Amino acid sequence: MFMRYFSRLLSAMAGPRPVVLSGPSGAGKSTLLKKLMQEYDSVFGFSVSHTTRTPRPGEQDGKDYHFVTREAMQAGINNGEFIESAEFSGNMYGTSKAAVQAVQAKNLICILDIDMQGVKNIKRTDLNPLYISIQPPSIDVLENRLRHRKTESEESLQRRLQIATVDMELSKEPGMFDVQIVNDNLEDAYGQLKHALLEEINVVKKVNMSS
Ligand code: ADP
Ligand code: 5GP
Repeated sequence: MFMRYFSRLLSAMAGPRPVVLSGPSGAGKSTLLKKLMQEYDSVFGFSVSHTTRTPRPGEQDGKDYHFVTREAMQAGINNGEFIESAEFSGNMYGTSKAAVQAVQAKNLICILDIDMQGVKNIKRTDLNPLYISIQPPSIDVLENRLRHRKTESEESLQRRLQIATVDMELSKEPGMFDVQIVNDNLEDAYGQLKHALLEEINVVKKVNMSS
């Protein structure tokens, strides 16, 4: 009882409740996230993950990801520096404690863009985020979007579609997500995302204005 109260108190002191965005690769998480960060740059902060995959054109080290070698990432994991980590489509991805703390220290809502393994692993921690699922209207639309993005080789694209097929089913499990958004029309999906976050946005705005 006391421990539960104490752990709640600690998370309240750590700042606003974090948000997890998850969904198949190509569903539109980054697109929605960018819109949100543009409109509310003084409210949200992105948890910059580590990954062993190579940067895509335009991606910046330290902003989109910390791009690291497998050895460096494994050493960090062994050292207890990560809240969670996962192997996704042949590469390692992970959320460091420092990434989340950097955002929470600024009293911003910390957003994590993570895969389904990450969702399951975060549920075993005391981070207590709001879980939001971003889904494509169909697997065919997802394939189209991934092809148009032109970031994947044919092999990588097929692997991502395979993972998506499994994860789209898994994400329907009761209790897995607090909010489910189908990103068909972008403006509609963005409206739903904002609606889900409005209460927290207003709290953070109020607190940050008075401090
Ligand atoms: P994720 O971050 O989930 O992997 P992205 O945000 O990179 O996905 O989106 C995948 C591709 O689909 C991008 O090229 C993006 O411009 C496009 N896209 C995202 N949302 C929509 C939408 N609602 N309608 C059409 N295209 C979209
Ligand atoms: P991408 O290579 O397209 O940037 O990301 C591939 C997948 O890895 C996406 O589903 C994305 O959400 C996920 N991902 C990104 N960062 C992390 C992380 O830190 N942890 C986990 N578990 N997944 C991540």
